[in-house]
Amino acid sequence: MEQVSADVCVVGAGFAGLAAARQLVGAGREVVVLEAGDRVGGRVWNRELPDGTVVSAGGTWLGKGQERMFQLCRDLGLEVYPQYDDGDHLVRLDGVNHRYRGTVPKTGPAALAALGTALLRLNLMARRLPADAPWQARRARAWDARTLGQWLSHPLNVPSDTARTLLRSTMSLLFCADPSEVSLLGALVLARGGGLGGFGYYTDSRRTESHLVDGGAPELARRMAERLGAAVRLSSPVRRIEQNAADVRLVSDALAVRARRVIVATPPVLAGRIVFDPPLPAAHSHLRQRAVPGAIIRVITQYPEPFWRGQRLSGQTLAPRSPAPVTIDQTPRSGRPGVLSSYAFGPGAVRLGRLAPEERQDLWLGALAQRFGPEARRPTAYLETDWSGQPWSLGGMVAHFPPGALTGYGSALREPAGRIHWAGTESATLMHGLMEGAVRSGERAAHEVLAAD
Ligand SMILES: Cc1cc2nc3c(=O)[nH]c(=O)nc-3n(C[C@H](O)[C@H](O)[C@H](O)COP(=O)(O)OP(=O)(O)OC[C@H]3O[C@@H](n4cnc5c(N)ncnc54)[C@H](O)[C@@H]3O)c2cc1C
Repeated sequence: MEQVSADVCVVGAGFAGLAAARQLVGAGREVVVLEAGDRVGGRVWNRELPDGTVVSAGGTWLGKGQERMFQLCRDLGLEVYPQYDDGDHLVRLDGVNHRYRGTVPKTGPAALAALGTALLRLNLMARRLPADAPWQARRARAWDARTLGQWLSHPLNVPSDTARTLLRSTMSLLFCADPSEVSLLGALVLARGGGLGGFGYYTDSRRTESHLVDGGAPELARRMAERLGAAVRLSSPVRRIEQNAADVRLVSDALAVRARRVIVATPPVLAGRIVFDPPLPAAHSHLRQRAVPGAIIRVITQYPEPFWRGQRLSGQTLAPRSPAPVTIDQTPRSGRPGVLSSYAFGPGAVRLGRLAPEERQDLWLGALAQRFGPEARRPTAYLETDWSGQPWSLGGMVAHFPPGALTGYGSALREPAGRIHWAGTESATLMHGLMEGAVRSGERAAHEVLAAD
């Protein structure tokens, strides 16, 4: 097997690993990046439709405050453009489509008040968390002992069935899991990462002034890797990491690397599958076994043009009881062809994943037609990405923690284990779960390494 030496070895060439490597190379360190897959980007992925149109099938949108991502786009010569935002959003409840403008669906005064109050309370709770150590908050144990689903189900927290339905659906989108699977504290950690916007930061494209990268966010990852040149080694899944007092040795399928330090920048669940010798401290190991990847299927449908714009619709819809509860306009900057992105999450995505492909497609297009009319049933292309089936992601968009995990083992999220440092969007204190969080986590890990040597 090929043997290589470097100052630092980075495991994983998603945004976190690439950002870490970029910082380290900038500081004059010799770096090797070992990437399991045959492409860089991880949870961002550009795929091609039959006519050659390139569509982003993973992380796509950037918003206000995501300065590191915008800066990287500028540095690497990529333009961004605003998300199409004209026309009405649409919410489908009890079989009826309701149009709305602004940020919250008009669902009647009682539901609206319940929705607003519940979100405000959750956001206020989130603001009480110390960013670096949310598990040390005064109420952390109580919040980590229950699920987000339990909190939402309590009639005093959300005194309206409609508001509860909308909130459950929105939270399923954020965690790609049913709220009954997610620790309340874990959910608040994500809201905390959205700054003053709280959960709204993640759900409201108008408030965040959403932008797309021209060419797709994966093109940014590709350019970052290109600048790193031969340092990035594809198809090199790391299976084993050995460390001693002097250095670290990594064994991948393709090569072995000896380095002074390592940054593990994989999704936590995949870090948990690497063999560590000596074994990781118990808290580090248990935390990674408990970081549960979400389930998400994203479907991209292409049409000759974005016909929904002619109906004065923005393309952004929410239909809690639909097989494809969320849609958003992903038409390229040029305005043609029309591209609509739609999603299934959590248990809904897992159920759909079990169907025969033709049955799933028929159900999916039927769900789109309920919101956009019969034209939605006749796309010129239909492309599915089931992230649970991606072997080096095992899900998306972000991992969540079940009750007890963060208060029990949270301190191991970022704390180095000897010469092993940790990056990845799940370890970010700001914009957690997003590409921005990934970049920030990689840069934080790189600074740790530089400070340690
Ligand atoms: C469908 C979907 C939609 C999303 N939408 C958005 C959005 O609009 N905006 C936004 O900001 N974010 C979005 N996200 C989230 C965003 O994509 C992620 O937060 C971010 O890309 C995570 O980056 P990362 O580097 O932390 O992890 P990853 O991208 O998962 O990178 C980890 C890398 O490690 C590699 N790896 C794993 N195991 C090993 C191993 N043993 N050895 C070597 N390499 C290994 C993987 O192949 C991968 O390349 C979305 C995600 C998905 C899936």
